[in-house]
Amino acid sequence: MPEFFTAPRVTLLAHPSFAEPAHLPVEWQGESTDGERLAEFAGRLCYMSQHNPAKRATREYLENIKKQGHGSVLEHANYSVLLEGVSRSLTHELVRHRAGFAYSQLSQRYVDESHAAFVVPPAIVGDEALEGAWRAQVESAQQAYVALVDRLMERYGWVADKVHRRKMAREAARGVLPNSTETKIVVTGNARAWRTMLELRSSEGAELEIRRAALAILRTLQAAAPGFFSDFEIYTADDRHEAARISYHKV
Ligand SMILES: Cc1cc2nc3c(=O)[nH]c(=O)nc-3n(C[C@H](O)[C@H](O)[C@H](O)COP(=O)(O)OP(=O)(O)OC[C@H]3O[C@@H](n4cnc5c(N)ncnc54)[C@H](O)[C@@H]3O)c2cc1C
Repeated sequence: MPEFFTAPRVTLLAHPSFAEPAHLPVEWQGESTDGERLAEFAGRLCYMSQHNPAKRATREYLENIKKQGHGSVLEHANYSVLLEGVSRSLTHELVRHRAGFAYSQLSQRYVDESHAAFVVPPAIVGDEALEGAWRAQVESAQQAYVALVDRLMERYGWVADKVHRRKMAREAARGVLPNSTETKIVVTGNARAWRTMLELRSSEGAELEIRRAALAILRTLQAAAPGFFSDFEIYTADDRHEAARISYHKV
């Protein structure tokens, strides 16, 4: 019996480490994280305003940056997350976000999917009959995959390099695996890029699984750097699923 995911697992892998140059100290105010200070430092360099004439706290300063649309300052801070328990259809949508992002995803050509997990589509979760019908389909697809890999390994028995032969078998057999097959992906994005992606994918128009993942990522990033993501408001939409809206659109 495969494992079934009903929620994504989001792990923050990396965030900025800011090393302030001793010859250009900023008069910091208020609470902040390294990523937020890095962006403020970059913004202040433009006007050499390290003495902080308005005595603004870092998060107030970043609020104004977002309001004014000076988004390039936010590009200095990068955050890497590991996403697990997400489907191949989700990552197909996710990787369309190009500017400011880097991706590394599990390869179905190299990795054996005989014991792959699957992600239950949110609209199906909680309905026993629908879940039963859906599970029967994905389980039979996985059985077909296992049988195909075995037969392809026999068919290409003449290929001496076993790693290459396995790759040939898996890359062909994966064609029967459903979109709901679980995958893992490392995503690195700068704060500006994350804001754009999260705005689009946490909104009511987004597909439910990527919307659920976007909300989980948003909460992770809001905890890591509130100053970049504080203008997102999470609410329950009319469709009874969570969504988020943003105050400062696409800076
Ligand atoms: C609800 C929803 C439904 C969707 N449905 C579909 C669909 O049916 N079919 C489909 O194919 N896609 C669909 N998409 C994907 C969509 O078309 C975009 O590919 C995706 O949202 C990424 O947006 P982007 O290109 O703005 O992002 P990014 O690539 O991250 O770019 C961010 C911004 O950078 C700038 N930029 C990036 N690259 C360039 C460039 N080459 N030239 C000029 N400016 C650039 C643009 O201002 C762009 O908005 C959907 C997206 C959403 C949110």
